[in-house]
Amino acid sequence: MLSENNKKIINARLLSQYEDMFRCPICSTSVEVVNLSSLICSNHHCFDLSKQGYVNLLTHSVKTKYDKKLFESRKMINESGFFDPLINRICENIMLDLEPVSKPIKILDVGCGEGSHLSAIQQRVVEQSQCNLLGAGIDISKEGIIIASRSFSNLIWCVVDLSHCPFTDKQFNFILNILSPSNYAEFHRMLKDDGMVMKVIPGSKYLQELRGIFYKQTDRSVHSNESSIALFKRNFDLVDIQGVQYSATMDNKQIEQMVRMTPLSWGVSEENVQQVLGKTKLEITFDFLVLLGKKMNAHRTN
Ligand SMILES: [Zn+2]
Repeated sequence: MLSENNKKIINARLLSQYEDMFRCPICSTSVEVVNLSSLICSNHHCFDLSKQGYVNLLTHSVKTKYDKKLFESRKMINESGFFDPLINRICENIMLDLEPVSKPIKILDVGCGEGSHLSAIQQRVVEQSQCNLLGAGIDISKEGIIIASRSFSNLIWCVVDLSHCPFTDKQFNFILNILSPSNYAEFHRMLKDDGMVMKVIPGSKYLQELRGIFYKQTDRSVHSNESSIALFKRNFDLVDIQGVQYSATMDNKQIEQMVRMTPLSWGVSEENVQQVLGKTKLEITFDFLVLLGKKMNAHRTN
């Protein structure tokens, strides 16, 4: 196991090596990593690297309902392999679109939470394609990024307000956005002209067993994603839409983690939550749509 200090040094060196990718979230000028301890822009706005080696680039403090417990549950569920079929599909899409280049392929995971998806994707793609891949994960929740930077080195981790992304223009080959809010103007700005956006949204049957118990017969018991797809299509050329559907049996402990890691149970009556938590076993449906987008006209003109 690497000590916390070693991880900080590895993460800080990576930030320093790729400081050209960054720009100041306040004034958009270029930044420099100084003494492996701060990111400073040409107008002297300064952002310190944490003891885990991530950098907090928020310009104001933000409180979210996504707490440490939620991300710890998410990490356990992800590491138990429940998202593997989705992760594999994302990796396949990346590898199909890879071109032989010596420069690193840059992937940005927007809303990366505790980082386990990005880390799994990086590991699998590198193992299978031997490509040089640089991953950066951003999230507005500091709690998620702390767990990510403690758990995974060799990736760039930042606490970021999505409307002020700290990266320069046309930087990324892939932007991933898995079950998390989007900012299409920023995606467009940061994506290379021939890059690809991969947005994962829940399919109509996603966690239907939980929804069925939580929301009974109300309209929240069925998930609709038409407006998400329409919004995506207004911003990017939708080149493919892929369904990934499977089910898995969870034991009592995993059901509890699953309930903790999704906002699904927020606002649900205690009685309905207890009904789920009391189950010793539950078959859970995973249903996702992967939207693949290119910049409008980009793949036709070059
Ligand atoms: Zn600045």
